[in-house]
Amino acid sequence: GAIALLGPAPGAPSCPHGPALLFVKTSQGKEEGRRFYACSACRDRKDCNFFQWEDEKVSETRLAAREEYNRNHQPSFTHRQNVDRYKNFVLLPLSKRRFCQECQQLLLPAEWEKHLDHQFLCDITTAQLKSPSQLLYPLENKKTNAQYLFADRSCQFLLNLLINLGFRRVLSVGTPRLHEMIQSKASQEEFSIRSLLLDIDFRYSQFYTEDEFCHYNMFNHHFFGGEAAREICRKFLYEENDERVIMVTDPPFGGLVEALASSFKKLMAMWKETEKEGHDNKEMPMFWIFPYFFESRILDFFPSFSMMDYQVDYDNHALYKHGKTGRRQSPVRIFTNLTPSMIVLPEEEGYRFCTVCQRYVSSGNQHCEICNACTSKDGRRWKHCILCKKCVKPSWFHCNNCNCCTLEKHSCEKTDVGCFVCGKAGHKRSACPSLS
Ligand code: SAH
Ligand code: ZN
Ligand code: ZN
Ligand code: ZN
Ligand code: ZN
Repeated sequence: GAIALLGPAPGAPSCPHGPALLFVKTSQGKEEGRRFYACSACRDRKDCNFFQWEDEKVSETRLAAREEYNRNHQPSFTHRQNVDRYKNFVLLPLSKRRFCQECQQLLLPAEWEKHLDHQFLCDITTAQLKSPSQLLYPLENKKTNAQYLFADRSCQFLLNLLINLGFRRVLSVGTPRLHEMIQSKASQEEFSIRSLLLDIDFRYSQFYTEDEFCHYNMFNHHFFGGEAAREICRKFLYEENDERVIMVTDPPFGGLVEALASSFKKLMAMWKETEKEGHDNKEMPMFWIFPYFFESRILDFFPSFSMMDYQVDYDNHALYKHGKTGRRQSPVRIFTNLTPSMIVLPEEEGYRFCTVCQRYVSSGNQHCEICNACTSKDGRRWKHCILCKKCVKPSWFHCNNCNCCTLEKHSCEKTDVGCFVCGKAGHKRSACPSLS
């Protein structure tokens, strides 16, 4: 059997992470699959086990129990309470500033007792409070948070790029480290760039006010703070004083591209509704940071996007570090609806401008005369296959059985449905050559 996402559905039941998403489970031999609701945010049932068949009758008692459960599974402090706690915290002398590493929480002296047998950090400096992404441990559990933080080099690059492009406001969706870098830049004099962080990681509410952080689920466009939080986001998107807005997002790389796309379209619509003249046929500028093998999926939803060659590097991801240091090259790229030629990539890292393609490309990305494009996706030089009529990875060869280029080692099995990762027919997700 296979499971496919149908998307957000009106009237969907809620779990602690907001409205559940509708999926369909198909089993072999059966034409129609059975539909069910499951948590939008957690793909690991250990993190949230919400499940309900679409046609299931749910009793009043179970509904009441569910509501109670959802209430009990909200964070112990509200955002407002956390903001007040922070105000008190910064008034404390250094010697009284503690951070509990087990609870991932700033502690006020009255609370010390409860955390005595926990590991904690002392003498929390203002600098530490200004870089919460360094203080908090990254939530790396792959299926839910997948918190991979930008390496400084990539984060600096992104911020400089945004500034050079003339943006003064950044809607940071799942990019806490970029948000943090903008905040610290903004606190330096004469600098007017602002960021609003939308993220599901509520730990950040300890460090930011309601105008700087919204607890948000990007898989179902759910604002945990309700209408008030939604309004803060709407206000932020309204381009006062010609301060141009861009959205930057770096979501977990699960398979839920359609859920993300649906939320991002809603954020784009929010921007559009701020009724600025000239928005008419425009889209909110956006950087969607995602692996290159999702290119076709992203373009399905956002045909105006193109993929940039820039390799985004991470601090805490063993595989996705800077290629030049001898590690594996990162597969993560920037997808954007801005004109590609405007995205200037650093020449000192080997990127060059292709005058035919009118965009910056990796040093190894050769312009193919037959495709009339710089075709490499992974930075290595690709080769043209006459039979496939396109360029393919250097390690691939043309298989006459499958009638396409693929890895030398593969089983010539055909599947009708496209691969969940790259969308191409001929293999399943588990055998996707992009992932190898
Ligand atoms: N590279 C970025 C972090 C990306 S990791 C940076 O350095 O700033 C993915 C981020 O998305 C994490 O911050 C994680 O907390 C957040 N996230 C994960 N699931 C989410 C969801 N359902 N809704 C909103 N944010 C989510
Ligand atoms: Zn504790
Ligand atoms: Zn080219
Ligand atoms: Zn070619
Ligand atoms: Zn071929």
